[in-house]
Amino acid sequence: MKEKQNLLRNLPKIDKTILSILENDRYKEIPYKELYLATSKVIQKYRENILNNKISSYEVDTIMKEIIEKLENHSKYHFRRVINGTGTVLHTNLGRAPFSQELLSHLATTLSGYSNLEFNLESGKRGSRYAHIEDLIVKVTGAESALITNNNASAVMLCLNEFSKGKDVIISRGELVEVGGSFRIPDIMELSGANLVEIGTTNRTHKEDYIKAINENTTMLLKVHTSNYHIQGFTSSVSGKELKEIAQEYNLITMEDLGSGMLIDFSKYGLKPEPTVMKTLESGIDLVTFSGDKLLGGPQCGIIVGKKHLIDRLKKNQLLRAFRVDKMSITALEYTFKQYLSEENAIKKIPILSKILEKIDSLKERAYDLSSLFKEKNIVSEVIEVESIIGGGAMPYATLKSYGVKIIGIDGNKLEKYLLGVEIPIVGRVQNNEFFIDIRTISEDEYSIITEEISEYLLK
Ligand SMILES: *Cc1c(COP(=O)(O)O)cnc(C)c1O
Repeated sequence: MKEKQNLLRNLPKIDKTILSILENDRYKEIPYKELYLATSKVIQKYRENILNNKISSYEVDTIMKEIIEKLENHSKYHFRRVINGTGTVLHTNLGRAPFSQELLSHLATTLSGYSNLEFNLESGKRGSRYAHIEDLIVKVTGAESALITNNNASAVMLCLNEFSKGKDVIISRGELVEVGGSFRIPDIMELSGANLVEIGTTNRTHKEDYIKAINENTTMLLKVHTSNYHIQGFTSSVSGKELKEIAQEYNLITMEDLGSGMLIDFSKYGLKPEPTVMKTLESGIDLVTFSGDKLLGGPQCGIIVGKKHLIDRLKKNQLLRAFRVDKMSITALEYTFKQYLSEENAIKKIPILSKILEKIDSLKERAYDLSSLFKEKNIVSEVIEVESIIGGGAMPYATLKSYGVKIIGIDGNKLEKYLLGVEIPIVGRVQNNEFFIDIRTISEDEYSIITEEISEYLLK
């Protein structure tokens, strides 16, 4: 009992502790309220633990350390840069498409002051935020017209609401997809007010299935690109071209949600063929929707391209106000589309594209470079062959041969956990309790950070 009272009495006092913390200039900027909260929280925890007999001793130094740790966290941003060593190029949890330094400096130049976001510099009067990029998207994709929203989910919803509210939309069962973050086509359709008519079976849908389902209430035939999975075996689906033929006969709108908007035909670089935005438009589909931050490699937004008379109607839909895209995305999207005016330039300037198309020899060389840096710091490692994934609900079964660097002689799970807690967290992969990073998603300026952090771990 006496023991307990002694422990309580000897706990650091809040006000004295704060004064001693303030002796260090580093913490002078922290508001008093934060200092008080951090200090009192830690001391209170010890007080309760003593009262509940959870502890029978403590070190004042440890208590101080805990308080300082809390204060250090105060100055850290919660949303931060991380190093992606997973090899998944479009990692949905790691922010999808990264921006280049050039794009970032363009953002800084454009947005550090006022801008002509909704101001027409020719007339000196009010302008439209959509005017900055419509012509550019049209030029690159060959579409008649274009419109953007804050993401692809809202692009799909806007189209369904405008053309099919209270009406039937026909879709194949094989295309009722759920993409990450629980975006489900059937749910979005319901929210838009459209009535979903499912046809065919999961693996096979024929032209006749569409025709049989058409009635006077039908307005649209919808195709959804199954971008995050692939049905193999006894399958059959109706092409965009066939869909267009049916639509013409019955005077219906055709739409395809492509998900990942590819503007470059990757098959000429040896990857599996996937439909590009241009190819889809050429098949005669009226409206095509896709994401800005998947294979396009730009900011989060949704892009709708297609027939002008339909897009003109979308521009007047009141939902567009709720789905509107902000100035940061507009700036980044204009920059991104500009790069696509030359394919060669796009591959050089858009990080996602350079990462996907990096040659295997270059990956191998970079893996050895990193491994050598490790060696200089006495980190034992081995260069290994790995497979990267494109990811992001894009190119479902496409894996890319790559090289990785595996750390030898360290508990992989422990290292993984440690590296998530460092200043610039490093996300790697662990197999059989061995930690490795895929070099494809690591850039050269990150080598030294990784080396330092792992070497720091070894010294502990
Ligand atoms: C990713 C994806 C979406 C959602 O796009 P967001 O830009 O994330 O809203 C919709 N449809 C398909 C087919 C997708 O792959």
